[in-house]
Amino acid sequence: MPSAVVVGGGVAGLVIARELAIGGVAVTVIEASDRLGGKVSRHTVAGIELDAGAESFATRAGTVATLAESLGLAVESPSPDGAWLQASDGRAFPLPKTSLLGIPSIPLAADVIEVVGLAGAFRAQLDELMLGFAASKERNFGKLVRRRMGAAVLERLVAPITLGIHSRHPDELDVDVVAPGLRAMMSRVGSLAHAVRELRAAAPAGSAVSGLGGGIFELVDALASDLRKRGVIVRLSSPVASVDADGVTLASGERVDTDTVVLATALAAPGETTITLATLVLDAPQLDRAPRGTGLLVVPGADGIRAKALTHSSAKWPWLAARLGEHQHVVRLSYNRVSPEGLREQARTDAEKLLGVEIAASSILGFDSVEWAQPATAQPAIAGVTLVGEGAAGTGLAAVIGQARSEAERLLGDLGA
Ligand SMILES: Cc1cc2nc3c(=O)[nH]c(=O)nc-3n(C[C@H](O)[C@H](O)[C@H](O)COP(=O)(O)OP(=O)(O)OC[C@H]3O[C@@H](n4cnc5c(N)ncnc54)[C@H](O)[C@@H]3O)c2cc1C
Repeated sequence: MPSAVVVGGGVAGLVIARELAIGGVAVTVIEASDRLGGKVSRHTVAGIELDAGAESFATRAGTVATLAESLGLAVESPSPDGAWLQASDGRAFPLPKTSLLGIPSIPLAADVIEVVGLAGAFRAQLDELMLGFAASKERNFGKLVRRRMGAAVLERLVAPITLGIHSRHPDELDVDVVAPGLRAMMSRVGSLAHAVRELRAAAPAGSAVSGLGGGIFELVDALASDLRKRGVIVRLSSPVASVDADGVTLASGERVDTDTVVLATALAAPGETTITLATLVLDAPQLDRAPRGTGLLVVPGADGIRAKALTHSSAKWPWLAARLGEHQHVVRLSYNRVSPEGLREQARTDAEKLLGVEIAASSILGFDSVEWAQPATAQPAIAGVTLVGEGAAGTGLAAVIGQARSEAERLLGDLGA
């Protein structure tokens, strides 16, 4: 039986471990921390179990839903209310309905004009007059959007979304990673707006994201128990110091030799950025009407607000609302590089400004904050070692799961398993 060692027990590592085990490989997962799941994890706030990291997944290609359903998990759609945008002048707008990462498919639509102004919308409309191949070779996402639709669309619509999802400005992102197929479609159909329309039409009906009844962390529990049934060995609290084509060396000095090494984490990650999630459980009847739909993305520099996004989780996920008492709400705010000191109060005042309602300190039933580190650089290639996970596939569960499955298929072919 061929053997494989998977370094890192995040979702990418667990998924490739499962696929390899199904293919007849003897798999060992080696995880540094004392739990599996990586950026998918849970915490308990005011007695309610909530996601402490990822809380949804992109529905594209059905990648995550197929896996979840094969593990017996219930996929749930979010409320159709949609998200809002907090502009830098303190006003809030519903996000334009038909857009892709904030790029409008109809630049002169009323909901686009409301956010970027008439001049910004007319500038974006120029995209329709340019030739389809203009900027279609541009791999930098920010430059592409700026050239086709101008700075207003880039800074007021697209940047808040990529900062919310990828923690990066569009100028730091690769188009082919964040919007696969967009450049090819643009040169085929003639404009960026038209390409967005086509990609949106090709996407599965319904929302662009889904969740799991009970929380995304259910996926990790289900994967872990599936791996146990398949005889996969899981070693926790075992940080790996180095890897090569023939095996791995643990920080303890122990050497584990194997036929195949899969690296499902970034080992060398200098210059990390930190994201902090602050969760409030509130007794707040004024939030029953979901004043900002499922939440807001914040344009950087908006009106003294430090949060970069707010999710009104209990308005977004019907399964969560069903677990709460009357007038109880869960609100989750995300921050870049924030001190934990005073964060509870900062989160309360940000939530007040963003949701446009008063939230008294006495209405807080529970608070917790969780800090996450994101490597600033991707894991460089290592000869003979398969790379999966965020470092190789980009951010997001759909991306890492899709890539882990295709790498498993390739490896099984190589191993003749
Ligand atoms: C706050 C936050 C919210 C997010 N929300 C969403 C969302 O709603 N939807 C979505 O699709 N995506 C979301 N993401 C992104 C998504 O969670 C990640 O892209 C995905 O979980 C990455 O999985 P991974 O397995 O590649 O990496 P990770 O989850 O980072 O797992 C890597 C694992 O490797 C382990 N490890 C590290 N070093 C070593 C070592 N030396 N030896 C052994 N093990 C090691 C780590 O402990 C960890 O368990 C979010 C991310 C964050 C931070």
